[in-house]
Amino acid sequence: MSGDNIIDGKAFAAEVRARVKAQVDRLVAEHGLKPGLAVVLVGEDPASQVYVRNKAKQTVECGMRSDEIRLEATATQEEVLAVVDRLNADPGIHGILVQLPLPDQIDESAVLDRIDPDKDVDGFHVVNTGRLQIGLPALTPCTPRGCMMLLHDRLGDLSGKHAVVVGRSNIVGKPMAMLLLHANCTVTIAHSRTKDLPGLCRQADIVIAAVGRPKFVQGDWIKEGAAVIDVGINRIPKEDGKTRLVGDVDFEAAVGHAGLITPVPGGVGPMTIACLLANTVTAACMAAGIPEPQ
Ligand code: NDP
Repeated sequence: MSGDNIIDGKAFAAEVRARVKAQVDRLVAEHGLKPGLAVVLVGEDPASQVYVRNKAKQTVECGMRSDEIRLEATATQEEVLAVVDRLNADPGIHGILVQLPLPDQIDESAVLDRIDPDKDVDGFHVVNTGRLQIGLPALTPCTPRGCMMLLHDRLGDLSGKHAVVVGRSNIVGKPMAMLLLHANCTVTIAHSRTKDLPGLCRQADIVIAAVGRPKFVQGDWIKEGAAVIDVGINRIPKEDGKTRLVGDVDFEAAVGHAGLITPVPGGVGPMTIACLLANTVTAACMAAGIPEPQ
């Protein structure tokens, strides 16, 4: 392979953000509508702080309003819910994201369910989950939405392809499978109890790896020419004592078989924030009852 099979998620995400910015410019100019995204961070988790900083920076770069609400790690459930209630009631905020994980004393699902489904730009609310399931317009979880954009960009129509999704979490595996099904793929969802996972993957035209285990999917599990989307983000130690990021796929072994493959880092990861911004535009347009600018 010449490297043409490696998807540059960073470059594609930059294109998505440029499209979002153009949409925002039109919404402001034509409708006086400035989409607003609020991110709630509870505690001082260093990785979460980096994510939140990046989200805020990219939100502003796209011309949107960005609010950051930080609460102490000792915040109570009532305090977090009160922040969500305030943001639900703020007409200038169209998207609310509560950064996970939350400290132990806070019931994560109670907080996520308190978010107005129309502002649920993470797409984790049961209302959006249900809407996605039955094919109604819904705010869709960002990472699976990003994976679909990458697949459609490179493969076009996905009808009839056999997709194997490894992982069945509510935030990646299940919504990913649903989006592939809506795109007319034949979908197999695999998990820790699946028998003969290598054999299943070898039948796949598309393999989505969302397992959370470094280099779990082996090169010889990949059918020649298949598309491999690696959602995994795993930090592993290097010989010099530092760490590096690897995906859930053994990239070096798989790249020679795959027709398309996403690297880690620089594949799916950058698409997630780009899709969060795209979801915020979608939510703002829905709230205003206007079509999304193309
Ligand atoms: P979860 O831990 O919630 O889910 C992992 C899934 O993998 C489970 O369904 C589990 O099965 C399955 N699994 C575990 N071991 C095996 C095995 N031996 N064989 C087959 N399946 C197995 O993880 P997430 O879905 O939240 O995340 C998956 C990965 O994606 C992680 O690396 C995470 O960091 C990354 N991620 C990346 C994002 C991005 O922006 N790129 C965003 C979100 C996540 P079971 O249900 O049976 O336990």
